[in-house]
Amino acid sequence: MKMREFIDGLNLKDGDKHRGDCPECRGRNTFTVTNMLGDIKYNCFKLGCTVGGIYGSDMTAAEIQYRLKEQQMKRAYTNIKKEKETMEIPEYVVTPKVNHTKHQRFIRRWGIAMGDTMYDVKDERVVFPIKYDGRIIDAVGRAVGKKQHPKWYRYTGEADYYTVGSGKILLIVEDVVSAIIATQELPYITAMAILGTSLSPKHMEKIGEYDKVIIALDPDAIGKTVEYRREIELWTGNKTVAMNLIDDIKYREYEDMDKLKELCNEVSSNH
Ligand SMILES: [Zn+2]
Repeated sequence: MKMREFIDGLNLKDGDKHRGDCPECRGRNTFTVTNMLGDIKYNCFKLGCTVGGIYGSDMTAAEIQYRLKEQQMKRAYTNIKKEKETMEIPEYVVTPKVNHTKHQRFIRRWGIAMGDTMYDVKDERVVFPIKYDGRIIDAVGRAVGKKQHPKWYRYTGEADYYTVGSGKILLIVEDVVSAIIATQELPYITAMAILGTSLSPKHMEKIGEYDKVIIALDPDAIGKTVEYRREIELWTGNKTVAMNLIDDIKYREYEDMDKLKELCNEVSSNH
């Protein structure tokens, strides 16, 4: 069946969203269609599937630009689906001990479990390993010494994102520490740190696995929050909520945590 016929057969009204199996690659629940003011946007985020596009009566310049960008991303995505290499852990990245005082001070300050971390004794960094398919493929090291650059160091660059938790609500946060703290406060969610400044098709594939998405970046990142929200909704068809924080998640501001819990409850109850 032709894609256009398939989509027309769904009879989506303005504002409607559809999520289901991909008619092309048969990916389970990977295919989304949205009708926004008559513009039909469809996409499959299954690895390697190139289905995606937009058609409609009244396409704006922004939509056309978006479509072009998306096609570029899809192509790049299809070309780079290589296996992730296992990280070789340097001998100076070790299991932390209580006498690593800088490490201890940092994890105590944020309330992070020692077992979630390693310690880079050479460069004085609290190291957060990143796993993929059960293997460590990358790590992020947070500087805890006096004068280190950068503050956050990536050991291999293999990982596309850092996630923690296994809930069906995805919370996107600014950094790894915020992600860990968010899942301590809300154990029923998954938290993701982007590990960069923009969303890629790899992010979108992962984000598409969740029922609902909440973006809670640092308060000075409003522009980025708005952009992410728009991109995620267009790509995945997922309902995406942007949250204004009083301070970074890692500071566990009482009001922020309350608002976040409320949002998660709303999100789960109207699912
Ligand atoms: Zn597909």
